Amino acid sequence: RASVKKITTGSQALDGLLGGGIETRTMTELFGEFGSGKTQICHQVSVNVQLPPEKGGLSGKALYIDTEGTFRTERIKAMASALGLEPKDVLQNIMSIRAINTDHQIAIVEELQDIIAKDNTIKLVVVDSITSHFRAEYSGRENLAVRQQKLNRHLHQLVRLAEIYDLAVIVTNQVMARPDMFYGDPTVAVGGHTLYHVPGIRVQIKKSRGNRRIARMVDAPHLPEGEVVFSITNTGIRD
Ligand code: ATP
Ligand code: MG
Repeated sequence: RASVKKITTGSQALDGLLGGGIETRTMTELFGEFGSGKTQICHQVSVNVQLPPEKGGLSGKALYIDTEGTFRTERIKAMASALGLEPKDVLQNIMSIRAINTDHQIAIVEELQDIIAKDNTIKLVVVDSITSHFRAEYSGRENLAVRQQKLNRHLHQLVRLAEIYDLAVIVTNQVMARPDMFYGDPTVAVGGHTLYHVPGIRVQIKKSRGNRRIARMVDAPHLPEGEVVFSITNTGIRD
């Protein structure tokens, strides 16, 4: 695993939980309830990937697939300024694409192969969120099998991109505070586990007091399980 590289999240505690940061060649799933900070982390890592290696980045660009319309240029600018980076440049190095439905989301990822093959400076792909369109379009038990099949194929494509091009993939997955309400839905964490049949790292984000958040490592193959606390501030993710 020597060739795996890491991108800082902005929080030393969270980086520590992740074994140094968000890894390349791996898909990292952030799951948690609304407002837990999944999107904020995605924004921060899209900025941080642009930092030079000595500052925790990969001097790379980010590709942000936004399925919920929650990508905010203002947040990127604020996070960039806080790091002493030129906001305009940082924004230019984040290609954000709004995916309007599952077919569109899948098609974008299929096209990424060509985009990334031509531009080896792309070091991060974000899908925020991976599940929202799937849940909306394939609701009901009778559609569950088809949905899981499509979603798994989509996830495997993302994992392959990460492995082939040595880049980091982050996907988010909203999970209700009371997963028992969604019993029987395998994309919902029950007992802290999302039942994807794909390799990767899973991190649960939980709300704590005020701007404090708890991150918990869930069944990572090579990392110890554990919990850390971090904060969401006006300037981004911090300890
Ligand atoms: P969802 O599942 O609904 O998409 P999420 O996990 O993506 O939720 P975020 O949008 O990342 O949640 O987090 C929203 C929270 O981030 C807000 O409730 C607030 O606490 C914090 N936040 C957002 N912007 C700022 C800011 N400018 N300054 C401080 N905190 C902020
Ligand atoms: Mg979000």
